[in-house]
Amino acid sequence: MKLEELERSAVDAFAVAEDIAALERAKAVFLGKSGLLTARLKGLAGLPPEERRAQGMVVNRVKDQIEHALELRREALKKSALEAQLLTEALDVSLPGRGRSVGGVHPVSRTLDRIESLFRTLGFEVAEGPEIETDFHNFTALNTPADHPARSMHDTFYIQGEPDLLLRTHTSPIQVRYMLAHVERFQALISRGEPIPDIRIIAPGRVYRVDSDATHSPMFHQVEGLWIGEQVSFANLKGILSDFLRCFFEKPQLRTRFRPSFFPFTEPSAEIDMSCVFCDGEGCRVCSHSGWLEIAGSGMVHPHVLGQCGIDAERYVGFAFGMGPDRLAMLRYGVSDLRLFFEGDLRFLSQFH
Ligand SMILES: [Zn+2]
Repeated sequence: MKLEELERSAVDAFAVAEDIAALERAKAVFLGKSGLLTARLKGLAGLPPEERRAQGMVVNRVKDQIEHALELRREALKKSALEAQLLTEALDVSLPGRGRSVGGVHPVSRTLDRIESLFRTLGFEVAEGPEIETDFHNFTALNTPADHPARSMHDTFYIQGEPDLLLRTHTSPIQVRYMLAHVERFQALISRGEPIPDIRIIAPGRVYRVDSDATHSPMFHQVEGLWIGEQVSFANLKGILSDFLRCFFEKPQLRTRFRPSFFPFTEPSAEIDMSCVFCDGEGCRVCSHSGWLEIAGSGMVHPHVLGQCGIDAERYVGFAFGMGPDRLAMLRYGVSDLRLFFEGDLRFLSQFH
């Protein structure tokens, strides 16, 4: 075979190779260890010196041409492989997007925000505290020493191996912490016999009890309020709570009533009922046809509690109240099962967006 023919057949073989593997096989035919062109190069060694030089130049030029053709074909194959890949993975940028789903505030969080902002307008500060509490802050300081029967009313989660720690059963320990810090902060005034500023806080947060049914969840929310001062009375409690409930439910005609009750940390104590927000007191299924709904517990802070927190119970008085934001949310949004709030079901939650 003439060198020109050999060159042409190599270029033709490369041109019909359909992928890199086929091209490598074609390369071996001409440029491999026992390839056709390789044999010509080896053959040069047997020629006389003059002829070897002249023939060598020709063979090497052909070799360069073949290698150049190989390289061009290799690049072309790589390019078309890439194009084929891009074609199969193509994105249609004209398709409409999936859209970004927008979250919403959880109905209980929304209720807590509403409670906080309403109490802020009434001059209350928002206080916070830890969810893992000491026995002292959760019970003892609140006039509920060990063996007190009231402890059995709270089905408490205790921390294993830490007899002094528990998951708080109410947000009252926040009030204890706040009172202790307040007394420490105004120690200078107290030592001079001067009055300390009023304490006026609400304490919202998660609390825990061993309990689970349609109206009880092992984790639920509470918000408690506390106002301590030299001139605080039960009338203030009644005014503040009635105002709050009227604003919260947007019912200016809403009525409240106070029924005597018992809590270890208040004396006297009262349950607060409000006129039913569904029937305005006419009687309906929600209020068991009584016209009233239980909404909060309250009372004047027990002197023992003030004493435990370092506040002079002879000089200062105050009231406290507690209610369930979950229940407030249920009443406001007409939700009948408390557990719906905590199951994380988007079909339920997205109704509140
Ligand atoms: Zn009713």
